[in-house]
Amino acid sequence: MLEDLIRAWDGEEVAVHFDHPSGTWMFICIHSTRRGPAGGGTRMKTYPTPADGLADAMRLSGAMTLKMAATDIPFGGAKAVLAVPALPEDDERRRLLLRYGELAASLGGNFQTGPDVNTTIYDMDVIGERHAHVFCRSEANGGSGDPGPFTARGVFHGIRASAAHALGSPDLAGRVVLVQGVGDVGARLAEQLAAAGARVLVSDIDAERARTLADRIGAEVVAPEDALGLECDVYAPCALGGTLNAETIPSLRCRIVAGCANNQLAGAEDADRLAVAGILYAPDYVINAGGVVHAWGVEALGWDLATVETRLAGIGDSLAEIYTRADAAGITTEAAAEQLARSRLS
Ligand code: NAD
Repeated sequence: MLEDLIRAWDGEEVAVHFDHPSGTWMFICIHSTRRGPAGGGTRMKTYPTPADGLADAMRLSGAMTLKMAATDIPFGGAKAVLAVPALPEDDERRRLLLRYGELAASLGGNFQTGPDVNTTIYDMDVIGERHAHVFCRSEANGGSGDPGPFTARGVFHGIRASAAHALGSPDLAGRVVLVQGVGDVGARLAEQLAAAGARVLVSDIDAERARTLADRIGAEVVAPEDALGLECDVYAPCALGGTLNAETIPSLRCRIVAGCANNQLAGAEDADRLAVAGILYAPDYVINAGGVVHAWGVEALGWDLATVETRLAGIGDSLAEIYTRADAAGITTEAAAEQLARSRLS
């Protein structure tokens, strides 16, 4: 129930709006403004019930607080969910986004948003017609554009840092890396890995996409159903969340899990399962922060691209610190990441 969720939540503010023309529930969750205005994407999705949409927004906004803190940029965490009856298109979509923009604007500068699942930089252009604090609008419209290339760059640095810790060297030449999902982020990551001399295996449910990329960068295609059991140095989940669970972890034959997908662990106990299996896990919200670093850095902090690149490399440094903390305290890397983020919040 919505009331129970709101009463139990540890965040600061929830805006709930039912949009009659479209039948959409809009939830904006501001989890924390302790480190600055709260930033987080706007997700558009169908949910079994409105409460599932609210629960998703609450959980994701808490993760944004940790992401901003772990990345050490001066913002808090938020997230918005548009729980739609069906994904709208064309004029219907535009009108919905404008009405959502008005709701977002009513919260002022404390709520800053960008793209997320099922929303694009062009949707940000529309929301930006009503709300002043929208990131990743199209470049033609004065925004910082697609965050994907910067997310990929951060993951690349994160993989190097993970290799340094688990394999003794950040050098990826000759290392075998499996990239699962070669969309906006995964394809760019695979390209950088290949350029660094890694043997790259790519897997995608879109076989044509995987084959075209593999031909271009000299990678090998593996069937999606075979991907997880392959022997490799690094498994980079870049498709969906939840691929690390009680069923899959025993079949993994990698030394490192480091990729961009959100919510890679199906449950908290899966961090322990990975540690017991001797697999180094790069906490997802740390390694996939590059898009946020770029958008918020350029648009809110006035960074140039050289500063952005330094901060993307810093994702590797943050991971190195997390791994050292985890080893020293005998805790999982997931727990160490949360500890680091919370130390920056207090
Ligand atoms: P995308 O939709 O462009 O790419 C996802 C790819 O995964 C597609 O090619 C799709 O066909 C493939 N795929 C889906 N299911 C698969 C499966 N079972 N096996 C293999 N391939 C599968 O998405 P993206 O923007 O590249 O993001 C990828 C992941 O990273 C998502 O979980 C997203 O939430 C997360 N993420 C993205 C960004 C960003 O800047 N785009 C930032 C942080 C996190």
